[in-house]
Amino acid sequence: MTAGVLALQGAFAAHASVLESLGATVVEVRTADDLALVDRLVVPGGESTTMSMAAERSGLLEPLRAFVASGRPTFGTCAGAILLAAECFDGRADQHQLAAIDISVRRNAFGRQVDSFEVDVPIPALGDAGLGDAGFHAVFIRAPAIERVGDGVEVLARVDDRPAAVRSGAIMVTTFHPELAGDDRLHELFLRS
Ligand code: GLN
Repeated sequence: MTAGVLALQGAFAAHASVLESLGATVVEVRTADDLALVDRLVVPGGESTTMSMAAERSGLLEPLRAFVASGRPTFGTCAGAILLAAECFDGRADQHQLAAIDISVRRNAFGRQVDSFEVDVPIPALGDAGLGDAGFHAVFIRAPAIERVGDGVEVLARVDDRPAAVRSGAIMVTTFHPELAGDDRLHELFLRS
């Protein structure tokens, strides 16, 4: 199995090592040719505005849209969740959406006072998949909030009554950074999808 990690900017290296530790062959995706080599993709955290501009410059926007539309599993975390969302509030006017999943997100929704925080969240889907019922240690860093989920979008976890992990078809997103949890269960779930 070959898993890509979009490596234009942000927290891609930590995702790559978690996926490798789970036995996946990892390709760092920077071009359309790289993307053609992978059968699933992680879109990491970082800065969605920068990532969006870099994707545009690298000619990756349309290949990424085609990739997600083809039904190949894609896992977006934090800025990656913003990029994959259908709609983004408080973004830059020239920021692009891949519209892979019918959710609306608001960037930096937790305000300056609580830039970053960590909390253990129950994710029943992990237990259902036989990956254990323990709470997942969720690390939020200037995180977006998911303010709307469309029909057919499954909420996997909530924090402060807001969806923090959701899934629809082959697309899964979290507003937190699972690659920093010391817990590889969400990556395992992604590799199984
Ligand atoms: N605030 C960032 C953005 O808007 C996301 C932060 C993150 O990925 N840790 O893109």
